[in-house]
Parts: sequence; structure tokens; C-alpha cells
Amino acid sequence: MKSLQGHTARKRFGQNFLHDAHIIRQIVDAISPKNTDHIVEIGPGLGAITEYLTIDAARLDVIEIDRDLIPRLQEKFGMNSQFQIHESDALKFNFAKLLDKSNNPASSQLRIVGNLPYNISTPLLFHLFSFPGLIEDMHFMLQKEVVERMAAPAGSPDYGRLSIMAQYHSKVDMLFTVPPGAFNPAPKVDSAIVRLQPYKQPKIIAKNVKHFEKLVTQAFTQRRKTIRNSLKTMANTEQLEHAGISPELRPEVITLTQYVTLSNLLQQNNSN
Ligand code: SAM
Repeated sequence: MKSLQGHTARKRFGQNFLHDAHIIRQIVDAISPKNTDHIVEIGPGLGAITEYLTIDAARLDVIEIDRDLIPRLQEKFGMNSQFQIHESDALKFNFAKLLDKSNNPASSQLRIVGNLPYNISTPLLFHLFSFPGLIEDMHFMLQKEVVERMAAPAGSPDYGRLSIMAQYHSKVDMLFTVPPGAFNPAPKVDSAIVRLQPYKQPKIIAKNVKHFEKLVTQAFTQRRKTIRNSLKTMANTEQLEHAGISPELRPEVITLTQYVTLSNLLQQNNSN
């Protein structure tokens, strides 16, 4: 436990601290911080990645929920004028407030990074997607299986709500996998680094993103059923066909474009 510097890892905060210098270097290289960047690190922990970000970023904000870690972070990095700690839950954090022009000499968009606790990864992504236009890119360490789901194409067994929503908002690239031994304590599963680049101009626009999300969630509540069955409370056969979707298909073979088209069609019918 030498690398934990006297701190006891808290399970409820998903604390698995990176200690493998080679992996940390690989992550920082993937982020490739520039001296004009405004970087936000979620869950800096004991500062394994933070250390390298402070060297390059024009501004670095870190959001950490564990109050025991705050004084350590302050002591380690507080002397850097571009560094600021926010003792806060990232799931409730208002990321827009970081772009207050009056105190922000850095770039006009945020670059978000984090070795994320597994239990908050999906809700956090959805929270971040609620700040369109604010984010340049995101680099996250997540459970490998979650990254595979995010990147999965239509028709693959991993394809579902998370794939569709992540790919609606951004380009998704799985960069590399990280074995359990790179962390202390070691998790039970493999991890992976994902890069998300939010689209400036989405390929297809949902008129009502909330409705689109609800439609996709409903479609996948019954994965094994036909789309006609799983969406029977939201769309009829005629509407499915109008959106170019054969009612006998399973939800997992229907593309992002088809789901958006259907959502827009249903929204249009509602407003008529
Ligand atoms: N970045 C460090 C590293 O790579 O060694 C720590 C990673 S550890 C997997 C996750 C970190 O996120 C911990 O420091 C934990 O306290 C913090 N954390 C957990 N839940 C959080 C939340 N809701 N908001 C902000 N930070 C959180």
C-alpha cells in the first residue's frame, strides 16, 4: 500500500488509484495537453494524472468528492496559479460555470479527463452530454465493457442505449485497454481509455433530445422482442414503417439515424 501515501481507498467512491507510470504516460500522451487548454479532471484522487496536467494546461480545474483528499491535492498542486480544486459531486456539478469569461484566459471550451469510478460512469456521461457546445473532448478510463458498449455499432450484441446516446452526441474511439494490475487496489475487471469528441454539427438532429432518449430507453427495455412490441406504447406499425423501420426487427439492429427519424416523426405528429 506504499503508493496510497497513507490514504485508505474508499470503495463507495470507487477508488482505484493508478500507479503504473507507463500507463499514466500513455494516458497523458493520448490527452496531449496544450498550453492553451482549459482542462477539467474529474476525481483526481492522489493526483497520478493531475501531476502531468498541471505542467501543460493554461487552466486546470479538478472536481473531487472525497474531502479527505482535498488538503493533499491543495498541498501538492495549490502553488500553481492556474490550478483550482472543487470539492463537489461531479454528477451535480455545473460545468458551465467554469467558462465564466471574466476569469478565464484559456480556450473557450473544456477538455474533460478522468479515471472514473465505475458506479458513476454512465450517469456522469449523460450529465456531461447535457452541456452541448461546452466540451471540446473527453478522455475517460472506464470499465472495458462500458467502453465496448459505447463504441458498439448497430447489429452487435453490445449495442444499446449507451451506444446510441454516446454516438448521437460524439465521435467515440476506444484507445487502449488497461489491466487491473495498473491500479491500487486492483479492480476485478479490465479497464479501457475512451476518447469522446462531441460533434459541433451533429450528423442528424433530434428535435427533442429528451424524447429521443426516452424512445431509445423504451426500445431496449425488451431487447429480445421485436421493435413493434417494445415500442407499442410509443409508436404504431405505420409510424415505424414511415421512419423506414421494419416492425419485425429487433431493437439492436436499428440504427441511430432510424431512431432519430422515428423520434422526430412522433414529435411532429404530436405538434400537429
Ligand atoms: N485519478 C486518480 C487516479 O487515476 O489514480 C483516482 C481515480 S479513482 C478510480 C476515482 C476518483 O474519483 C477518486 O478520487 C474518488 O474519490 C473520485 N470520485 C468518486 N465519485 C466522485 C464524484 N461523484 N464526483 C467527483 N469525484 C468522485
